[in-house]
Order: sequence, then structure tokens, then C-alpha cells
Amino acid sequence: MSASTDNPSGPDLGKGIALSQVPESGILLGHAGGEPVLLLRQGGEIFAVGASCTHYGAALVNGLLAHGTLRCPLHHARFDIRTGEAVAAPALNPLPCWTVERQGDSVRVLAKREHQPKPEAGAGPRKIVIVGAGAAGNAAAEMLRREGYSGSLTLIGDEDSVPYDRPNLSKDYLAGTAAEEWIPLRSAEFYADRKIELVLGARVAELDGAGRKAVLADGRTFPFDACLLATGADPVRLGMPGGDLPHVRYLRSLADSRAIVAKLGSARRAVVIGASFIGLEVAASLRTRNLEVDVVAPEARPLERILGPQVGDWIRSLHEAHGVRFHLGQTVAAVTAQGAVLKNGRTLAADLVVVGVGVRPATALAERAGLPTDRGILVDAYLETSTRGIFAAGDVARWPDSRSRKNLRVEHWVHAERQGQVAALNMIGCCVSFEEVPFFWSQHYDAMLSYVGHSESWERIEIAGSLEKRDATVSFHEGGRIAAVATVGRERVSLAAEAAMERNDQAALAAAVRA
Ligand code: FAD
Repeated sequence: MSASTDNPSGPDLGKGIALSQVPESGILLGHAGGEPVLLLRQGGEIFAVGASCTHYGAALVNGLLAHGTLRCPLHHARFDIRTGEAVAAPALNPLPCWTVERQGDSVRVLAKREHQPKPEAGAGPRKIVIVGAGAAGNAAAEMLRREGYSGSLTLIGDEDSVPYDRPNLSKDYLAGTAAEEWIPLRSAEFYADRKIELVLGARVAELDGAGRKAVLADGRTFPFDACLLATGADPVRLGMPGGDLPHVRYLRSLADSRAIVAKLGSARRAVVIGASFIGLEVAASLRTRNLEVDVVAPEARPLERILGPQVGDWIRSLHEAHGVRFHLGQTVAAVTAQGAVLKNGRTLAADLVVVGVGVRPATALAERAGLPTDRGILVDAYLETSTRGIFAAGDVARWPDSRSRKNLRVEHWVHAERQGQVAALNMIGCCVSFEEVPFFWSQHYDAMLSYVGHSESWERIEIAGSLEKRDATVSFHEGGRIAAVATVGRERVSLAAEAAMERNDQAALAAAVRA
């Protein structure tokens, strides 16, 4: 996916090219000093940045230039075109930038510029504690240091691993196509270098809002002036007979995914309970490993509630083409050592059962601390709870979404990271309201689905293109507007839809989905 450095394509930008080769709002791939470089033209100005996304290495030439940012086609990372700064997750590192010389009608790329970190700022709370070292918690800690916050910073997580790429657990990692070393987001040294105290394998048992301290289960106490709750969500557990047998597994953490992988040596047949995103991604990964896979779910179509009947039928046929057997309109009544017994009495042989029936936000700590919750921790537009200085972000937070005018809580990786980043800015007094458009992706075999916006109760779905050909735009119309857009094989449409939603520009959005 990344732009190759071995045989750089396009013109030698060090030698210079005619300005007319880069159209307004256009992106041109070339090279300079042996490295792939993108020339970007916007608002009459011209910029030169690195050609590969710093998240998964995708070729940014296939991305979109909008509102002063370059956007990655894969997972929608955004980079400032002037500074290369990764202004919105999932990329956490900046792009390299080059100085551009413009003479008359020609442009030439000169030296690579050093990225300038922000100077340390003495202002802000003296001590910040972040509870939960997942997507939101990690992104918040990184953002605080990026912004020059120099006070004490502690990131507490109850898992043993450094923060890691959770979405990969059901995808390449489970399929056996991603090595273990791909999974951590950062090394332990990264945190040490930035004076981020990483307290792992440690569960915060009590949060004392008035006393301004977080207390661990083992009694250790961490005082704070500001705190972020980023405790994520826990898988819903099924109380069926046999549910605690050793071959019944859930998937939320790296330890969970490792435990499933450890079972794969001896497993031949798997039953996946739940046709959720995670259940279906697990089904795809297990098929990649040649296990026989049965998926059991109560609904008539997988993912219909979130994506509608057409996408549901497509996703079902995609999985069936890879050999997955569906048992829809069914539930598992019990699990035995030999398999899963369905409500209709049929037994599906299985030596591995993976349950993916959804998650619940991890609100218990906040509830005990007396913070208002309603299927999530309630926060304002600045992601602050009703207690001043205590913020919440990610899967656990329910925030007032200005576009839908509803209090929303979503379970998306990029969204959690972006909320963590905005909460970080607000903890140090920046006063930024959270206005990001929700975005998620899901990967099934070699098909990727991207989704921007949010719609729970659409009146109408419109499809342009063909899902079967994996070239489609699906628009969800709610309350007289396009509230969400799903795409398959149309990454630039997804980016353009997101950019239009950011500006609440329904005309641009309608044009984007027609393109
Ligand atoms: P988390 O990342 O879950 O982090 C919360 C952390 O807090 C956890 O480590 C938890 O153990 C810890 N914690 C909880 N309570 C305490 C406590 N009291 N003390 C200390 N630590 C505590 N999203 C997408 O958009 N696309 C995908 O393709 C995708 N795939 C996924 C695949 C899998 C297998 C899973 C599980 C999720 C996937 N998601 C995906 C969802 C995405 O990972 C979540 O939305 C995201 O991780 C939420 O981030 P968070 O920081 O809110 O919570």
C-alpha cells in the first residue's frame, strides 16, 4: 500500500516541474532525494509532504485534499498540509515536509524540513491521570505531550500490554497474517521518553472526584487535578449452560485474541455466536485459517440494524462465498464439549465457540463516583462530565452530537482516539468542542467497508453502484438529510462525504454520494 522508495514514481520534483502539472486541489506523486513526495496545491499555494500515511502506510496520492488537510483513503487520518502534523487520528505521527520553491510557472522541491515539536508549556493542571490505556487514553496522553503539556502525566490500564491496535485483533492478527510486533501502538520507551508514567496491569477501583484521586485495587493512590475516564466497553456475556467451558471465548483484548489463537492448533470447527462486526470479522479470519465456521444469530440478516437489508444480504453472500454457514433467526441454547446446541434442537459440532454479541460501556467506576450516566458516561460538547476537571472519551462516553442533535455513544476506533485528543486539549484549557464526524471501517476477507456519519433510524437507503462488484455508495437518509454514508471500494467518496459532513454541507454531501 505504501508509496515505494525503491522505484519512486512520477517526476523528479527536485529538478522542478511546471506548476500547471498540479491542478488546484490536486495531488501529484513524484520524488525528491530518492523519497516519494506529494505535491499538493490548495488555495493558490503549493506544499510538499511524504507520500505514505504514518498509520498503515497507505498511498496518500489516493486520498483527498480538503480544508487544508490531506486525508488518508484507508482509515481517514488527516494531516495538516503546511506542517505535516497528524491533526486527526488514527495517524499519530506527522508526515515529513519539504520546502517548495516557486519561480514563475515552475515549482521545485528543496530540502526536507525538520518537524518542530511544540515548546513545553508550564500552564495547565499540575497532575493529569488517565484511566484506561486503550484508543482514547493513549491518544489523549500523546496529545498532551505533543501540545507541550509538561506536568505529571499518568496512564493507568488494567491490561498487561502497552496500548495496542485493538481492531487488528479480529483481523490480520487472528487470521495469522500480522505478526505480534505489529500490534503495540508504541514501545515502552516511547512513554518513558515523554515522561508518561505507564501503570499497566492495574485496575482503578475507585475514583474520588471531590478528593481528586484515583485509587487502584491494590490501594495505590494517584492524585490528580484533571482526569480522563477512557475505560472503553466490556463484551456482553451469555449466561447459557456451558458458557464457561474452556473452548467458549470472547474477544476484546489482546489476551483474548491470543487465547483464541492458542486454541487454533487443535480446532477444526468453530461456531461464532453473533453476526456483529466482530463476530463476522472473526468468521473471516477463522476461514482464512481453514476452520469450518458456522455463524448463529437471531436476526434475519447480518448487520441489518446498522447497515440495512441490502448491505446485510451482500455481507452474508460474501461470507457464504468463503464457506461460512449462517444459522439466522436462531440462538444458542447451550454449549457442550462437542458443540453448540441451537434453540431448534440442532447441534453444531465445534471445538471453538467465539461469542460476539456486543459490548456494554464500562461505566461502573463513573457510577460509583457519582457521575451521571445514561448507557454511557454523560459529557458535554467539551467531553467534560458534570464534575469539573473530569472528562470521558471513547466507547464509554455519550456526547451531544451537534449534527444529529442527539446524545450519541459509538464504538469506533478512530472516534475514540479523536475524542481522546479533544479531551486532552480541553484538560489543558483549550476549549475545543467535539465536532468530529463518526467514522468506522470493517474488514471482511479482502473487502473493506467504510462508514461516515451516524444513522440509527433512516427513512430511506439509496445505493449507487454495485455491492456485488464491490463498488458502491450507500446513503442513509434520516430527517430529510443524508445522515450516514457507507462505501465499498470507493474510499474517496467516503472521504468527500466526511469532509462535507464536517461543514454540514448537504449540497456537497449529495454531490459526493452521486460521484
Ligand atoms: P478501549 O480501547 O477498550 O480501552 C479501554 C481500556 O481501559 C481497556 O484496556 C480496559 O481494559 C481499560 N480499563 C477499563 N476499566 C479500567 C479500570 N477501572 N482501570 C484501568 N483500566 C481500565 N472499531 C473500528 O472503528 N473499526 C474496526 O475495525 C474495529 N475492530 C474492532 C475489533 C475488535 C476485536 C474490537 C474488540 C474492537 C474493534 N473496534 C473497531 C472498536 C474499537 O476497538 C473501540 O471502539 C476502541 O478500542 C474504543 O476505544 P476506548 O479507548 O474507548 O476503549
